[in-house]
Amino acid sequence: MTSLQQGELWELSRRLIGFNTVSALSNLEAAEYLASYLEESGLTVKVARDKIEDVTKASVIAWAGPAVEGGLIISGHIDVVPFEGQPGWKSDPLELITDGEQLYGRGVTDMKVFLAQAILAAKQQDLSKLRRPLMFILTYDEEVAGQGSQRLVKQLPGILQGFPLPRTALIGEPTNFEIFPAHKGYATFKISVRGQGGHSSAADRGLNAINRMSDVIQIIKETGLELKQQVTSENQRLFPENPSTAFNNGVIQGGLAANMIAETCELTTSMRVAPGDNVEQIIATLRERIEREISQEMRKAAPECGVSVSDAISTPPLNSPVNDPFIEVLARVMGRRSEQGAPYATDGGPFQAIGINSYICGPGLIEQAHQPNESLPVEHFHSGQERLERLIQAWCMQ
Ligand SMILES: [Zn+2]
Repeated sequence: MTSLQQGELWELSRRLIGFNTVSALSNLEAAEYLASYLEESGLTVKVARDKIEDVTKASVIAWAGPAVEGGLIISGHIDVVPFEGQPGWKSDPLELITDGEQLYGRGVTDMKVFLAQAILAAKQQDLSKLRRPLMFILTYDEEVAGQGSQRLVKQLPGILQGFPLPRTALIGEPTNFEIFPAHKGYATFKISVRGQGGHSSAADRGLNAINRMSDVIQIIKETGLELKQQVTSENQRLFPENPSTAFNNGVIQGGLAANMIAETCELTTSMRVAPGDNVEQIIATLRERIEREISQEMRKAAPECGVSVSDAISTPPLNSPVNDPFIEVLARVMGRRSEQGAPYATDGGPFQAIGINSYICGPGLIEQAHQPNESLPVEHFHSGQERLERLIQAWCMQ
C-alpha cells in the first residue's frame, strides 16, 4: 500500500468507485452513502428520490451557512457511463487502483473523485465560519441527457423550504482545471416512416420507407445548413470550430429483405444545440416541412402511411456571463480560464434555466472520460481537494 492509498480522499473515492452507478441502475445506495458523509461533515442534507422506469434514483442536496444570498453550489453527477461490454479494460472498473502515476476505475475522471474532493474540502472547513451558503447538488442520470437535474430543478424550492438558492455553481466535470462558462445543449429525437410493402419486382407500386427516409435526411441536411447561416457572433467566439446547432444521424434501421419493398424505417438523430437556438422550434420546423413535402403525398396513396417525428429528449445549452466576479475567484484558484465553450453538455444547462450561472471546471482530462481504463493523473487527485478548499474559503468565508 502506498501513502497515496492511505488518506481519507482515497478511501472515499474508493467507496464511490465501488458503487455501480451506471445510469440504467439505481444510484440510491451511493446517494445515501454520500448523504450520510455530508451529514457527518456538518451539512443539512436532503435526499430527493425519483422513480425512473421503475428504478429508484436519487439526488443529494446539502447545505451549510447563513440563509443569505450569494452562496456557491458545488455540483457533480453520481452516475457513470456503462463499462460492461466495453472492450479494453485491464482492471475491474469498480475497483480504484493506481500505478503511481494515474488512478484507474470507472468514474475516476467523470466524476466521482471530484465528488470526494469536494465533500472533503467542505469537511476540512469550520462551517460555522461560512459567511455565504455552501451547497452541494449531486445528481443522477446526467449521462442520460441531463434528465436527473431537469427533474430536480423543479423540486428544488420544495426541498430548500425558503433557504436561498445560490445563483452560482461550479460543476467539476473533467476540464484539466480549465474554466468553461458555456456549452451546447443536446437533444435526440426519432423519425419513423411507415411505407407500403410488396414484392420488389413491383417496386413502383409500393411506398418504400427507406427511400422516403432518404428524402427526410435531405431535409435534415438542409435544415442544418440553414442553422449554419444564422450563426451568431457570440457562438462563433464560443464554439469556433462548430458554432451552429448541428445534427448527427446516429442510428437507422429499416426493411426486412433485399427483395422486399421496405415497409418501415426508423432514424434516431441527435443535435448539439448552440445557445440561443430552440430545440422545440427546430423540431416543429422539421415536422412541418416533412409533413408538407413527404407525408401528405404518402397518405394520399394510403392513409396509414406517412412520417412521424417524435418530441425531443433534450438538455439545454449553457451560456454563463464571463464578467461574473465568481469567475475571477475561480481563475485565481484553478488557473487557466477559457473564453470558449466546453465540448459537451452538463447539468449547467438545466441549472441556468432556473437562474444559476454555472462554470465547468474540474480535475481530469475529458479524453479520459467514458474510455476503458478511465484514468486521472495522481497530481490532479492531490491538488483537486486543496484547490476546492481554497475556493470555498475565498468565496464563502471572506
Ligand atoms: Zn460527466
